[in-house]
Amino acid sequence: MRGQPQDFDRVLSSMCTPPHPVARDAAERFLATNPGDPGTYPAVAELEDRAVELLGDVVGLSDPAGYIASGGTEANIQAVRIARNHSVSSDPNVVVPESAHFSFQKAADVLAVELRIAPLEDDYTVDLGAVRRFCDEDTACIVGVAGSTEYGRVDPIPELGRIANEHDALLHVDAAWGGFVLPFTDHEWHFGHAAVDTMTIDPHKMGQAAIPAGGLLARDGSLFDALAVDTPYLESAKQATLTGTRSGAGVASAAAVIEELWPDGYRENYELAQANADWFAAELRDRGFDVVEPDLPLVSASVPLDLFESLREVGWRVSRTGADEMRVVMMPHVTREMLESFLSDVDRLVPTANINT
Ligand SMILES: *Cc1c(COP(=O)(O)O)cnc(C)c1O
Repeated sequence: MRGQPQDFDRVLSSMCTPPHPVARDAAERFLATNPGDPGTYPAVAELEDRAVELLGDVVGLSDPAGYIASGGTEANIQAVRIARNHSVSSDPNVVVPESAHFSFQKAADVLAVELRIAPLEDDYTVDLGAVRRFCDEDTACIVGVAGSTEYGRVDPIPELGRIANEHDALLHVDAAWGGFVLPFTDHEWHFGHAAVDTMTIDPHKMGQAAIPAGGLLARDGSLFDALAVDTPYLESAKQATLTGTRSGAGVASAAAVIEELWPDGYRENYELAQANADWFAAELRDRGFDVVEPDLPLVSASVPLDLFESLREVGWRVSRTGADEMRVVMMPHVTREMLESFLSDVDRLVPTANINT
């Protein structure tokens, strides 16, 4: 059977996008390589070093430590694992904002750490007072989100760094989606702005790399020592990654596309995407929908369920937030023309739906 992947011309809610041509080319050439075994596959191992170095430029970190993971989920699990293994507590906890990605629930479960979920302010960033109250001597890590999955919001990272320092906890920043747009904003979110210890930033989202390409970075390489296990049958002595055999395609594509697009290509993407987000938010407001102000290129708006379902029925790939808003992510493949076509479907379908519910 020869399957056919979906087109992207109606995909509005995905955080992934077709890979950039240089990413696609690199992925194909490196399909049969395994960066998990650098002794056998040195060329891809070198590309991984290059990818990490380039990611360091994106996140304000000279001499970064890290690796290309399978995605943001693995990077977040590994960050919690680093913090847990560094903690001297016998009952460690991790304080995360309510906006944290569900991968932290997986991390807490797999690693047997307690997850303390701090509520949000009205602007969807974490309530610092709550974070302070939730931290104690058993807190191994505080998590801040830089570009939340549902609203694209950025937590007050410098303040979270200060709270983490007071409790001898690590600060992990989850910029899985936001990492390739935030450099072009005024937000304080990275290693150069705050006492960040580890960070998730996914090349396979806004970075336009091929899946799988997540990123985990650390300020200090010694943080990875807590993860390293001996690898008897490989030529390299230690391994700090979660998976063993890994995708050389993801690694090579990440190195190639970041080299190609950082910084001007990504800046151009961001400016187009943010302009589309602002325009789309205004268009939805004009039609009477409640819209969450798009701080980053991601628009969430209250749309009645029957309209939402009608839009899905005519092929639009839209999804909903936990609070039932429709969510549109301005990935590089989402053009103004697509959004116009979407809005004309909204206008056509609205009479059969009731906006005021
Ligand atoms: C997408 C996302 C993740 C998970 O990344 P995967 O690559 O899907 O595993 C984690 N955190 C944030 C903020 C995300 O947007």
